[in-house]
Amino acid sequence: MKKYSRILILTGAGISAESGLATFRSSNGLWNNHKVEDVASVEGFQRNPDYVHDFYNNLKTEIQQAKPNAAHLAITRLQQEYPAHVDVVTQNVDTLHEKAKNQNIYHIHGQINQAVCLNCGHILETWGDVDTQTICPQCNVMGMMKPNIVFFGENLLCMDSVEEALRHCDLFISIGTSGVVYPAAGFVQTAKYYGADTIEFTLDTTANNYLFDQHVYGKAGETFPLWVDGLIQEAKKG
Ligand code: NAD
Repeated sequence: MKKYSRILILTGAGISAESGLATFRSSNGLWNNHKVEDVASVEGFQRNPDYVHDFYNNLKTEIQQAKPNAAHLAITRLQQEYPAHVDVVTQNVDTLHEKAKNQNIYHIHGQINQAVCLNCGHILETWGDVDTQTICPQCNVMGMMKPNIVFFGENLLCMDSVEEALRHCDLFISIGTSGVVYPAAGFVQTAKYYGADTIEFTLDTTANNYLFDQHVYGKAGETFPLWVDGLIQEAKKG
């Protein structure tokens, strides 16, 4: 096995499936039985902010109770025991990478435990409910809080750091993402263009699978820890 010095791991909803959190595409494009355009679009939020807040408040409760699984923990092991810099770029709004004590985490689609004030830009960190009655603690204006989730049509977060990591990684790993949601689905192409090896861990065939050098099919909580162990063992052999 080749030795790597900079690894970028892109994760999607599939890595959290074994922690009990539903994926997106698995149920006909519904997210926890809600239409994506109703709960993850700017228009949906403008149309019915109470409905959208309600959805994310419920998801927040679910996520707060979820525990990281073996795949999240294998990332920690990789970061601690393999001699490479490892970045974690996640499309997930859950906080399971943090709970697993992963390092260098970039939440490009936002985080469930944050809300952003559309009046002053303040980011409120909270596990409590946020709704149209919430007052921004910075500007004191009521009703301007939006879940800090990147809706369709909005710009991704942390992209300067992510683009830098994509240009410099020599291994790009994708775990549990369908390759349907852009721009994240295009990251593998950038990494490959700059010379990285590419590998995906997924349950089903993905939309951008032709861009990966290797495919590992199965539950990430089973396949990824085994693969990480192999990589660490190889590195120890020298
Ligand atoms: P997706 O739901 O579109 O696709 C999930 C992918 O994971 C599929 O390719 C499936 O084959 C694979 N998968 C399912 N179970 C798996 C397992 N146990 N092991 C390995 N692979 C598995 O997810 P996406 O591509 O991340 O896009 C969905 C969007 O919805 C993301 O942008 C994300 O922000 C949001 N979302 C987030 C969460 C979360 O935070 N946990 C949950 C649902 C949706």
